[in-house]
Amino acid sequence: MSIESKVAKTLAELGIENGDAIVSAFAEVNNAMQAERARAIASGAIDEPARLMAAKRLRDRWLARKSGILNAIDENWLKQAARDIKPAVGREFNRLRQAAAVMEMDELLAAIPLRASATPPAGGKNVAPVQVAWGGRARPTDLTLPGNRRELGSLHPVTQVQREIEEIFLGLGFRIETGPEIESVYYNFDALNIPESHPSRDDWDTLYIDPQTVLRTHTSPVQIRAMEKYGAPLYIIIPGKCYRRDNPDSTHSPMFHQIEGLAVDAHISFADLKGTLDYFAKRFFGEKTRTRFSPTYFPFTEPSGQMDVSCFACGGKGCGVCKQGGWVEVMGCGMVHPEVLRHGGLDPDSVSGWAFGLGVDRFALAKFGVNDIQLFFQNDVRFLEQF
Ligand SMILES: [Zn+2]
Repeated sequence: MSIESKVAKTLAELGIENGDAIVSAFAEVNNAMQAERARAIASGAIDEPARLMAAKRLRDRWLARKSGILNAIDENWLKQAARDIKPAVGREFNRLRQAAAVMEMDELLAAIPLRASATPPAGGKNVAPVQVAWGGRARPTDLTLPGNRRELGSLHPVTQVQREIEEIFLGLGFRIETGPEIESVYYNFDALNIPESHPSRDDWDTLYIDPQTVLRTHTSPVQIRAMEKYGAPLYIIIPGKCYRRDNPDSTHSPMFHQIEGLAVDAHISFADLKGTLDYFAKRFFGEKTRTRFSPTYFPFTEPSGQMDVSCFACGGKGCGVCKQGGWVEVMGCGMVHPEVLRHGGLDPDSVSGWAFGLGVDRFALAKFGVNDIQLFFQNDVRFLEQF
């Protein structure tokens, strides 16, 4: 028997005569009311008018003054009750009336949610709702359809290589230090012992913002900034972008990435430099990698060297990558020039240091077997998603 037909009869007609039967009759009504409310909330509404309609229909069915179910209970159950059960029926009816407060309009409107798929995107006044009219009715939500997948990006290959190099040095106790890309001529050249006459200071090599300001041509100015800031001992690596007036081709880019390393402490020797960089080469290029050092010249180190590694492509036998020589040059390095230490505020008689600088982009070219540095900066997703 439906709730409506039950409440249309008197309790006597329903054979309800004692307290337990009264309690369970009212419990049945309350359960039916709560179940209808729960169904309305679970269904939700596709828009405001639909929500208003659903709430009003439910409220009227239960609470309407003349035709509502609670009114029928008042008329048929309570008023018609035999005198001996009337107090018990009145008590249960009061409890039901209190429970029925959740069927008031305000309560229902607050409880029934708008379905997400029917909500236009925030701020998109002119955007058509996603909900599609379907035979004049709203399309029901199909929970078996696949969800909207947002594709995940990945780290740029140059960033991957930078992180890999950072990890190796972080494991050795180095810290990461950074500095400005727009740099003063003092930090970029003077403090690094690069004389006024040095060709790298030429307009043709360096991008000047004004006569005293450049886009840094290397990460080395951060060496001076860090020495000023922290003093010694100092063990840092300095990753970052650098700029030179180079025409873009397969091996040059006006913007490129460097990692600089600097160790300053008492009794630092060239043996420390060789030991650390040899360990780094084996970690990055593989355990069988051999290293060799040969002399060269940089204004900011003395002595200066370059480090070659045994060819990572052929193992040293000779191939296209190493131009048949079996060795590949990978970085410049050397003992920090005493003038540079002085510019950093340190005393070259009590501390010494070594430094290196490498091109991250070139390491990435080697690691991934890419033959054109421009590919890294063109941001073609078809290229980048291969890494
Ligand atoms: Zn080779």
